[in-house]
Amino acid sequence: TAEAGRDFIRDIVQADLDADRHKTVVTRFPPEPNGYLHIGHAKSICLNFGIANEFGGRCHLRFDDTNPTKEEQEYIDAIKRDVHWLGFDWGENLYHASDYFEQLYEWAEYLIKAGKAYVDDQSPDEMREARGTLTEPGKDSPFRNRSVEENLDLFRRMRSGEFPNGARVLRAKIDMAAGNINLRDPVLYRILHAVHPRTGTEWCIYPSYDFAHGQSDAIEHITHSICTLEFEDHRPLYDWFIDNLPVPSKPHQYEFARLNLTYTVLSKRVLTTLVRDGHVKGWDDPRMPTLAGLARRGVPAEALREFVRRIGVAKANSTVDVAMFDHAVREVLNAKAERRMAVLKPLKIVIENYPDGQADEFEAANHPDNEAAGRRTLRFGRELYVERDDFMETPSKGFYRLSPGKEVRLRYAYLVTCREAVKDASGEVVELRCTYDPASKGGNAPDGRKVKATLHWVNAADAVEAEVRLYNPLFATPEPNAANFAADLNPDSLEIVAGAKLEPSLAEGGVEPVQFERLGYFVRDKDSTPGRPVFNRTIGLRDTWAK
Ligand code: ATP
Ligand code: MG
Ligand code: MG
Repeated sequence: TAEAGRDFIRDIVQADLDADRHKTVVTRFPPEPNGYLHIGHAKSICLNFGIANEFGGRCHLRFDDTNPTKEEQEYIDAIKRDVHWLGFDWGENLYHASDYFEQLYEWAEYLIKAGKAYVDDQSPDEMREARGTLTEPGKDSPFRNRSVEENLDLFRRMRSGEFPNGARVLRAKIDMAAGNINLRDPVLYRILHAVHPRTGTEWCIYPSYDFAHGQSDAIEHITHSICTLEFEDHRPLYDWFIDNLPVPSKPHQYEFARLNLTYTVLSKRVLTTLVRDGHVKGWDDPRMPTLAGLARRGVPAEALREFVRRIGVAKANSTVDVAMFDHAVREVLNAKAERRMAVLKPLKIVIENYPDGQADEFEAANHPDNEAAGRRTLRFGRELYVERDDFMETPSKGFYRLSPGKEVRLRYAYLVTCREAVKDASGEVVELRCTYDPASKGGNAPDGRKVKATLHWVNAADAVEAEVRLYNPLFATPEPNAANFAADLNPDSLEIVAGAKLEPSLAEGGVEPVQFERLGYFVRDKDSTPGRPVFNRTIGLRDTWAK
């Protein structure tokens, strides 16, 4: 069992097991298949599956597929893939709210027969108007006191397809003056002539979230139904249904704070619009906070789980600094990513005194702290690439890298000195002429002279050319405005580097995730083609968030 006191929900589970209120804990993760899962869902997945794993229970994956106009098979498939990617498995416990449509319908008739539900013919506007406000009680519908017979007849005709969308609804008869607006005769069924991904056209009435959710929990013998805080004032309604229906078990709802992240929008409405309007290149665009996007960006699932563990589970909403997420990503990648050399913006250097035909080989460790990662052989040559940013014709104060007359260390290889910058007609530096010190093999001078800068490089003769995609935050402001998000989009969220040069060990896949020395962590993208890899930068080496 889990250690006590880790969070209030685990405490409740532990107490319920200790008191024998339940033999085993059963949780569920209930996504609506109307979009891809995002980092907020990861918090819920880790909590629900985590509790099941830690306490020897089980967690169901249940698709909350009660709104066919927004739901698609693509989303169902993506959700399954992403839950697995995050490292969790529902085993045989895959369910759909739509599996319970017939049972839910019978329970609706049960409420009608008990005088606890009625068919309302008011228009949506009239119903909204009559619902009242926080300070004003609602008004009873003129249809509230229909007879059981009339209600049954109308509800059955709703089911058989006699009425158009929106003509009538079925409502629970609770209390139009309740302080909690959710109890003011909530809607149980609405008419919707639509094709459902699983039930096709079998149904033209669909249960509301409130009517479907708790009863689905009861059918599946869920013990702890964990949801986000917005549902706290739906709990009395959740309990009302459980108390007023002949359900097979009595689940309880518990609420926790949803995850909010700086520089990030987690509203499915906004994410859907970003995709639909082409602000990003799909749900798995590496700039998206979706699990598919994060995976494609190269974020290890382990880092996501670790991040979720660190933020914990609380009862008050707050916003987490995205730097905390990045920190977890860097920590995991630093431990696991092999090191390689790549030059993103190449500047050619020619080593004039390097003998033609000579080709030194150097051994480079694949990981500085992990011998088991092994070593690889790097070939040196007369022509190499270095990073354009590592050269300044007139060095500013504190710039110790390449400039005419300056000596630097090429990692693992030799000390080289820049002699001259060759320019094209426009004055742009196109090549550096250099010399090397043959006695400095391995990177140290025999006379012990100091060289401050160590640069990464790639041998021109066997370099692999690649496209590298550098991602920056999708939003330019720490708290993007979800209502007008387009204004807060970062215009520089994607920079494509076309002609990067990689060391040859990166030609084929298999070493990712990988750290390009001095540049950050990278992963091969699915857009790679044979002979032309595409790499995504997962994250830079250092925290660059503006303070
Ligand atoms: P939206 O309301 O934008 O459509 P949702 O949150 O309702 O999204 P669901 O698919 O219904 O999306 O969510 C499935 C589960 O994930 C729910 O139990 C929900 O509480 C949880 N969840 C969704 N967003 C977050 C979040 N930001 N933090 C924690 N849990 C979340
Ligand atoms: Mg929702
Ligand atoms: Mg929801």
